[in-house]
Amino acid sequence: MNNDTAKIKLVIFDWAGTTVDFGSRAPAAAFTGVFADNGITVSDQEAREPMGLNKREHLVAMLSQPAIASRWEEVHGRPWNEQDVDSMYAAFVPIQLEAIQKHAELVPGLLEAVEQLRSQEIQIAGTTGYFKAAAAAVAVKATAAGYTPDANFCADDVPQGRPAPWMIYRAMESLGVFPPSSVVKVGDTVADIQSGLSAGCWSIGVCDSSSLVGLSLSQLNELDADQREAKLANARETIMNAGAHAVIDTIADLPQLLSEFGNSNQRLEASLN
Ligand SMILES: [Mg+2]
Repeated sequence: MNNDTAKIKLVIFDWAGTTVDFGSRAPAAAFTGVFADNGITVSDQEAREPMGLNKREHLVAMLSQPAIASRWEEVHGRPWNEQDVDSMYAAFVPIQLEAIQKHAELVPGLLEAVEQLRSQEIQIAGTTGYFKAAAAAVAVKATAAGYTPDANFCADDVPQGRPAPWMIYRAMESLGVFPPSSVVKVGDTVADIQSGLSAGCWSIGVCDSSSLVGLSLSQLNELDADQREAKLANARETIMNAGAHAVIDTIADLPQLLSEFGNSNQRLEASLN
């Protein structure tokens, strides 16, 4: 790999839990809500397990968890089926849109990080497991707060959501960026990390705002130092076990990390091989 291909030209950020909605609370709340409406109690952790997938697949992944499947049978007297998924998804959409209105604030440090990246001629894109109306709602709120990626793709724009790489490739194509080794994907879930690896680009996880930690900024700040570190350590471990090339505690750390990438082409080449 020569110096030119190793230069980072594009950073593709996830939305909820990475750039907006610290703790990724909007999707988690919507999933627990739609299950509650069907008589099923699911924990916050159960709702977050498949986070990052497209939202219909997320519903299927939750229903397929043995503990949730057996709760469904207890309440409904039969196993769940595709029609249940259809009706739950139809009910989920408005709940999700409403939750976004409450949880779409920018993650602290994002605007400064984006400004620094753009000053180095790095383009910015967004990808999300949200369906079109949800992705649009988030983007409108982010633009009002000062964050507008140069390209934006959601699960409805591609035949398969994460862990498939298609949203990343759409972003690269629309912004004219290649090869994948000049692209960095940043996200807060295992599915995000896997999509970056599927695309053959750099795959980086962020911890403090993530769905893996699952707390609002004020909830995180209320923890004592040991509890906070334990939460972050758990997120770091999950991200690295998913195969990430690097993990950062907070989005503000990204420009520094990328400048280190740029200074170590050999390490980059070794990692991508
Ligand atoms: Mg996310």
